[in-house]
Amino acid sequence: MSRLDERRVHGLRVAIDRDLCVGFGDCVEEAPDAFRLDDANVAVFVGPAAVDRAALLRACDACPVDAITVYDETGTQIVP
Ligand code: SF4
Repeated sequence: MSRLDERRVHGLRVAIDRDLCVGFGDCVEEAPDAFRLDDANVAVFVGPAAVDRAALLRACDACPVDAITVYDETGTQIVP
C-alpha cells in the first residue's frame, strides 16, 4: 500500500498518512466503523461512509500525530 490511503466520503477527501500513523488507535476508538488497525498496527479505512460526517471528522481530528488529513468540497484543509 502506498504511503497515503485516501477516500472520498460525504464530499470530503480523507487521507491517512501511513508513515505518520503510530497506531495509537484514537481514530479507531472514535469511529470503529470507519477505521481499524491493520496487521502492521497502522490505520486503514473500513467503511467511512457508514459514519456520519460529524463523527467522521471527530475521529479524524482525534489523531494525536495528525496522520489523518481532511479536505472539504472546496479543497480547503479542515483537519487538522
Ligand atoms: S489516531 Fe492517528 S496514529 Fe492513531 S491509529 Fe489513527 S491515524 Fe494512526
